Amino acid sequence: MHCIFCSIIKKEIKSEIIYEDNYTIAFLDIAPISSGHVLVIPKLHFTNLTETDPLMLAYVMQSAQKIAGAMAKALKLSGYNILINNGAVAGQIIDHFHLHIIPRRAKDGLEAWPQGEYQASEAGQIAKKIIASLPKS
Ligand code: 5GP
Ligand code: ZN
Repeated sequence: MHCIFCSIIKKEIKSEIIYEDNYTIAFLDIAPISSGHVLVIPKLHFTNLTETDPLMLAYVMQSAQKIAGAMAKALKLSGYNILINNGAVAGQIIDHFHLHIIPRRAKDGLEAWPQGEYQASEAGQIAKKIIASLPKS
C-alpha cells in the first residue's frame, strides 16, 4: 500500500517538517488553506480518526497543542482552527490520519459553515440514537 504521508515520515518525499518526536511528526500543508497551515500526524499508519489508537491520538493532540502555540507566537495569529476530515464525503483525501492546524487572521475571509435548526423533538431523538451507540464503559 502506498501512503504519501508514510513516505513523508520516512523522508522519501520532501516536506517542510516543523516538529518531530517519537510518535508524531508535523509539516506544512503543500496547499495551505491559509499561510502556515500545518498537518500533524502519528508516525504509525491509521486510516482515519475512527481507526486511530487512542494513545496515539493523545500524542497527536499534545503535539498539536505545542505546535499551535508556537504558530500563534511565530506567525502572530489571532486564532486557529483544528480540523479533522474523516471519510471521503467529509473531504478526506489522504488515508493516513491527520489533524489540520489552520491559522486564522482578522478578516481572512474563511467563512464558517452555515448552521441550521432542529424541529420540535428532533434533537432529543438524535441525541438518544447517538447515546445508544456509544461504547459501554
Ligand atoms: P485531507 O483533505 O485528507 O484532510 O487533507 C490532506 C491534506 O494533505 C491536504 O490539505 C493536502 O494539501 C495535503 N497534502 C497532500 N499531499 C501532500 C504532500 O505531498 N505534501 C504535503 N506537505 N501536503 C500534502
Ligand atoms: Zn501512512
